[in-house]
Amino acid sequence: MLKSLANLLFPVTCPGCDSLLLDGEAVICTTCRHSMPFTRHHVDEHNETAKKFYGRLPLEHTSALVYFHKEGIVQELIHNLKYRKQQQVGRLMGEWYAPSLSTVAELQDVTDVIPVPLHPKKLRERGYNQVTEFGKAIARGMNVNYNESILLRTSYTKTQTQKNRELRAGIINTAFDVKYNDTDANKHFLLVDDVITTGATLEACGKLLLQIPGAKVSIVTIAYAHS
Ligand SMILES: [Zn+2]
Repeated sequence: MLKSLANLLFPVTCPGCDSLLLDGEAVICTTCRHSMPFTRHHVDEHNETAKKFYGRLPLEHTSALVYFHKEGIVQELIHNLKYRKQQQVGRLMGEWYAPSLSTVAELQDVTDVIPVPLHPKKLRERGYNQVTEFGKAIARGMNVNYNESILLRTSYTKTQTQKNRELRAGIINTAFDVKYNDTDANKHFLLVDDVITTGATLEACGKLLLQIPGAKVSIVTIAYAHS
């Protein structure tokens, strides 16, 4: 009754198609749920997401929950998640994915879910990291830690000369840093992000995590985009 009244005063719309949510519909409408382009990547170890990292990074498991198509539902959902504070989208995606991920043999020894950190300036502007709720829901569902303290995003405060030197040396990604101690050895880190396109960001983050002694790394994203 109260919910219906609130709905009348402040109509809640579906972040996938913008239609009004009906009673009993939570976060995403039934139509959008039924047309969600699930990848089923988690049941195929040689899936498209995994292939993006062949020859680049040794990973235990790599998968994405849904396909990202231009003008599609997923693009709309991700846009709402990133730019319109619709963090419940990330939470729902994580809650959908966690039970499937829990059945993957390669993920049975995961210890920590690690979100790709947002640049501090972006974090201040946006007010939240769009991957946080997705990552937390997966960590809850898999009963492992959610860890935001190992992987850091460093601000650019470099001089032009330093930048030029790095460009000449072919170093393009100096935006991340890893901070760990002895207790972080031999862990299996599940790195999470919103959309995978080229995989360059995830590759940079994964390489840093693999510097930790005995570390294993897996990658999971909400969406897969063809690059
Ligand atoms: Zn919808």
